[in-house]
Amino acid sequence: MSDMAVTRELFDQVMVPNYSPAEVIPVRGQGARVWDQQDREYIDFAGGIAVNCLGHCHPALVSALKEQGEKLWHLSNVMTNEPALRLASKMVDATFADKVFFCNSGGEANEAAFKLARRYAIDHFGPEKTQIIAFKQGFHGRTFFTVTVGGQETYSDGFGPKPGDIDHVAYNDLDALKAIISDRTCAVVMEPLQGEGGIISPDADFVKAVRELCDEHKALLVFDEVQTGVGRTGALYAYMDLGVTPDILTSAKALGGGFPIGAMLTTGAIAASLKVGTHGSTYGGNPLACAVAEAAFDTVNTDAVLNGVKERESWYREGLEAINAKYQCFEQVRGKGLLLGCVLNEKYQGRARDFLMASMEEQLMVLVAGANVVRFAPSLVITKEEVAEGLARFERAVARVVNR
Ligand SMILES: *Cc1c(COP(=O)(O)O)cnc(C)c1O
Repeated sequence: MSDMAVTRELFDQVMVPNYSPAEVIPVRGQGARVWDQQDREYIDFAGGIAVNCLGHCHPALVSALKEQGEKLWHLSNVMTNEPALRLASKMVDATFADKVFFCNSGGEANEAAFKLARRYAIDHFGPEKTQIIAFKQGFHGRTFFTVTVGGQETYSDGFGPKPGDIDHVAYNDLDALKAIISDRTCAVVMEPLQGEGGIISPDADFVKAVRELCDEHKALLVFDEVQTGVGRTGALYAYMDLGVTPDILTSAKALGGGFPIGAMLTTGAIAASLKVGTHGSTYGGNPLACAVAEAAFDTVNTDAVLNGVKERESWYREGLEAINAKYQCFEQVRGKGLLLGCVLNEKYQGRARDFLMASMEEQLMVLVAGANVVRFAPSLVITKEEVAEGLARFERAVARVVNR
């Protein structure tokens, strides 16, 4: 095996074709920089899709991983463990929640949230209260339940009969929600800033009205903070800046800073519906993941890092405005904190991928969010030098697209 040529071609031979990865194969990273097999260096504005909140190989995470890696990796849920209890306590202290359930991904956190919302509603209000309302363009994961709650049918079609009693309305459309919500609604599920759907912020009035409608109909408000959570928008969780508190919140992506972990947070009264044996996960809450996540959580949940996100947002916005003043390809730069989207104007409709490809040629990793938005989700502690160098590369990438 050791002398095997590991190339991009191998992907097509041995991997299921559900992804279409880039030609380059990164082999190491440090901070907001990554190097490929040929030792070509890239600036990372993608952060593993909003996962690497402290960049690559942050010393606090490496040391937590090494330390726990020599102590204890895995037990089972027949026993609890110290890192899980410490992390849960810190999450409870820092949020509205009283209780935490650990799993391994965002999809699993949402799966737990939706199952809990159904259980709670059935326990307290009877078997008819099962409707879940979610939003078009929303994204909640790829398990069959979560992908069906997600607002893009192209992702959930083609797998046979779907989980039922799930309805979708347009994001920020209060009248549409009012028309469909009733006492049969068990939960309204939303991202407090749509990520995959195109970096779309909720109107402040809309979020408050959703909360009121949920209260009126005794439906739970579920915030999917898998992408927005753990400092991404400049608050520990995005709900904290919205003046609205959810009943259930899900967190993953940045929670482990690159190590797989997910969490569902809720109140004691709601958590009571997940009685012994009603839900579970073999790896969920394992000591190794929780030790790394605890280090990530401790590092991010400080004024220095959270305020730093707002400062970095302004570096990006200024840099992107300057690029746009020269090349005029963006209609607006939207989003919050370090979850930003450049929305392509009329002239470049459908061409977000061209900007991504041109960026790779300039040794810069960016993301897209749909066909019309170039997305940035970099490390929350990216340095000024890295931002400046990355934006210089982005400007050259934009020039390539515009001049081609
Ligand atoms: C990425 C994402 C998910 C899915 O997380 P996985 O870890 O891929 O299962 C769910 N919700 C939102 C908002 C996301 O951005």
